[in-house]
Amino acid sequence: MITRRSFLGSAAAAGGLAASGVWTTVASADEPTPKPASAEPGTHTLPPLPYAYDALAPAISEGILRLHHDKHHAGYVKGLNAAELAFADARAKGDAAAIANIERALAFHGSGHINHTIYWENMKPGGAKEPTGPLADQIKADFGSIEGLKSQLLAASATVEGNGWGALVWSPMLKRLYTLAVLNHQNSYMVGAITLLITDVWEHAYYLDYQNRRGDYLSAWWGLVNWDDVAARFAAAR
Ligand code: MN
Repeated sequence: MITRRSFLGSAAAAGGLAASGVWTTVASADEPTPKPASAEPGTHTLPPLPYAYDALAPAISEGILRLHHDKHHAGYVKGLNAAELAFADARAKGDAAAIANIERALAFHGSGHINHTIYWENMKPGGAKEPTGPLADQIKADFGSIEGLKSQLLAASATVEGNGWGALVWSPMLKRLYTLAVLNHQNSYMVGAITLLITDVWEHAYYLDYQNRRGDYLSAWWGLVNWDDVAARFAAAR
């Protein structure tokens, strides 16, 4: 049973998500009921990058980060807000026929906003030291070693067909770490799995710098991973 404290912990680990109202909170019996996290539909905002636009170069150039964050990520926030407002409009009009299309837009843009937010926070200039402690123990149990995780995650990411993401996730139900090759922003995810580490393999994430050399981009991305952020997400998710 998730407590308010642990849930707020996971929301805090999700960083900008809590501030942007993606998550709602659940109260336990001994604490006051919190207000809904996002009272007004359509008010999500683009979280700022947690570092300067040129801070990840040369692995990821300033030009890519400006385009990717300011245009692409902003577009998903805009699409998420539009979907929320469209739900409200459809309810007001009693337009049940509109709901199916809005659901598709919600899944696409909402997942795009969430994935990009985690992706930015998963990186830091120069990367971080490889994990120690519980995350390292779980990686060893489920992948053999950090090198085992790297080879499996990069292979999953390299083979995503078309647009998508490579992700390391924790399943609270199955008590294992998995890698996922995610199509678009939302398909081929495992139900209930919590994203710990994610890399964007849409062409807009690397094509200006690497053209079709997705593997070179992934190798450079690995060197940017902020393992402290991944460990914090794992601690909150377990
Ligand atoms: Mn992207």
